[in-house]
Amino acid sequence: MDGGGGGDGDILRIEGLACSFAKRGMFGSGGGAAVRAVDGVSLRLGRGGDTLVLAGESGSGKSTVAKAVMGAVEAESGEVFFDGRRIEYGRAASLRRIRTGCQMIHQDPYGSVNPRMRVGQIVSEPLEIHGWGGKGSAAARAERVAEVLEEVRLEPAADIAARHPHMLSGGQRQRVVLARALALRPSVIIADEPVSMLDVSVRAEMLDLMGGLQRRHGVSFLYITHDLATARHLGRRIAIMYRGRIVEDGPIGDVLLHPRHPYTQALIDAIPEPDPANLGRERTVRIVEGAGGAAAASECRFRPRCPYAVDACAEEPPLAGIGGARKAACHVDIRDGEAV
Ligand code: SF4
Repeated sequence: MDGGGGGDGDILRIEGLACSFAKRGMFGSGGGAAVRAVDGVSLRLGRGGDTLVLAGESGSGKSTVAKAVMGAVEAESGEVFFDGRRIEYGRAASLRRIRTGCQMIHQDPYGSVNPRMRVGQIVSEPLEIHGWGGKGSAAARAERVAEVLEEVRLEPAADIAARHPHMLSGGQRQRVVLARALALRPSVIIADEPVSMLDVSVRAEMLDLMGGLQRRHGVSFLYITHDLATARHLGRRIAIMYRGRIVEDGPIGDVLLHPRHPYTQALIDAIPEPDPANLGRERTVRIVEGAGGAAAASECRFRPRCPYAVDACAEEPPLAGIGGARKAACHVDIRDGEAV
């Protein structure tokens, strides 16, 4: 039995998740110090078509959160609740619940499908694994494959189903991955940088497709990205992650227009927007790029790069409410690029 305790309005709730990896020693040997990749992360995703954007630089721990939710990496501590019940990763039935109700789309549409399989087999695979339509119901699975291929605008479905991935464009391949994710009618899709390897010309098309499917089927998205330019078109809420921790959290419009953490500010200033007026705020460009090394264990982990640091920053700040639905982990009250 899964444990109870999930919030009623949340389809997915993550509480205090922490994951560490052993650092490789010299010459690739083991035995190095453990690195905390995810450090006390708590997130909530509402049911019925919510979108939470989890944003941060490469290496911030975003993908590790996703893998831990799916049981692909072991969490050191913390809990995950899916549809109101705690997932017990050591129990096959509990693991099956999250792996059925929650599906993942990875960044690389080339690497996430088997090149030797035909599209029909790729989309049908999760249906077979989870026994869709009962034992021996190949016809029910074929019908479902055709249905989802049409839903992701891969038509004619019979023709696409017979092809191998190399016979498709990058955008088509990522739609195959989306079709496979949708096949089991999940409540949640975790989309890990789903458009970052696509041509700019097909990114908007893919995002539009995902938005349409979300409205039609009420599937909720945890959208993981380093790219705030796409994030602002998608989510209702955003959580910003830096070196394993959430440093800012709130409604996406408020956070992107008026960031309250210096790291959020740095990410926004890095958006390649030709006209800063389109961002709705002035660029500040004050972050100390690439400065310093790792922060000391007890200090704010952004301190080596932070232009606002004060003595209090020798102690890591908690993620705390700053008014409304917003939270930030910073000792300094920063508004519109100025410490107040
Ligand atoms: Fe910068 Fe201090 Fe805020 Fe950390 S706590 S982000 S060092 S001002």
